[in-house]
Amino acid sequence: MKHIFPTYKRFPFEIVKGNGVTLTDNNGQQYLDLTSGIGVCNLGYNTTPIKNAVKAQLDKVWHTSNLYNSELQEKAASLLVKDEDKDVYFCNSGTEANEAALKLARKATGKSSILAFDHSFHGRSYGSLSMTGNEKIKEGFGPFVPDIKFAEYNAPDALTQITPELAAVILEVIQGEGGVVNGDPDWLEAVAAKCKEQKVLLIIDEVQTGMGRTGKLFAYQNYNLDPDIVTSAKGLANGIPVGAMIGKTELAAAFGPGSHGTTFGGNPLAMASATAVLNILNDDFLEAVQQKALFFWHYLEKEIQPLELVNGISGKGLMVGIHLKSDIEVGKVITSLHKQGILTLSSRDNTLRLLPPLIITGSELLRAVHVIKETLVNTVIGQ
Ligand code: PMP
Repeated sequence: MKHIFPTYKRFPFEIVKGNGVTLTDNNGQQYLDLTSGIGVCNLGYNTTPIKNAVKAQLDKVWHTSNLYNSELQEKAASLLVKDEDKDVYFCNSGTEANEAALKLARKATGKSSILAFDHSFHGRSYGSLSMTGNEKIKEGFGPFVPDIKFAEYNAPDALTQITPELAAVILEVIQGEGGVVNGDPDWLEAVAAKCKEQKVLLIIDEVQTGMGRTGKLFAYQNYNLDPDIVTSAKGLANGIPVGAMIGKTELAAAFGPGSHGTTFGGNPLAMASATAVLNILNDDFLEAVQQKALFFWHYLEKEIQPLELVNGISGKGLMVGIHLKSDIEVGKVITSLHKQGILTLSSRDNTLRLLPPLIITGSELLRAVHVIKETLVNTVIGQ
């Protein structure tokens, strides 16, 4: 690839158009998208109300600096936090949201230690990478931000590492890049309780799990968890780069004027898109996602789970990991699915990851199950 850093291993086709859950490549081949652009276009492509909101804002003003009042930010923030006592800092990505969370946690508590988890993913800038528990991704980039410790995800032992010296614990409710690993509900609640008891902030990274993906606005709302800080991005504006750090209002004073900021954060185009997204993600929409997910999981368990090549299925709602046995490479399955007009993702540990747009229909989900099943069955035979 000319003039482009080779940071991504790319597939040999280019997506040139999207509509609903369908993407079209430069050869005219159509794909059923089960990736949402890695959990971003959760409401599909070319989505009319979002497109109209961005177009209307394009005719007004694209960008203003954060030096002026922003009703648009307040509107998006109030949809994000509802009537909770929380404030929002808008930025441009999940990475930036986690950077802000790290800085806020340190400044608000006056402490520096952070506990993160093995196989977590929080981003690739120095703060967020330092909190990421993946040695392969970190290789060659050290030294990292000091005072960040790691514990085993889902391990009862991790609780002993939550002590008052910590500023914060950061975790994903389901580790997306880490292999679609579900946090055990009892363990998550025990971590949250221990944080409260030890006066340690709890940061939940909802960059991949949020914005309706698990049938709730945020995945932590499926459990009895009360995070001090939540980070979001990806699906928040359905493809316009927007990140958000949401913190309890009692922490907000630590971020006075001048302590943190970013030029593009929360700009009018971004907020127009985020507001349109959040208006769609109402309770009825989320209820429909839960119903769709029940239907999907029924067929995943019936058709995919029993296959010889499948170790198990994890995830929640419309976030799914199909764990493949080592006899088959997930990359081969993905390529074969491409050829059959279905886009999927991989994750750690030979996992086939599905993040379909939340607007996908039952019959499209059923088609996906059948094609994936056929592919897995034929791959065994073909080997
Ligand atoms: N946190 C999680 C849980 C993620 O999955 C990702 C991206 N895959 C990030 C943070 C980083 O987000 P971004 O790429 O928007 O910076």
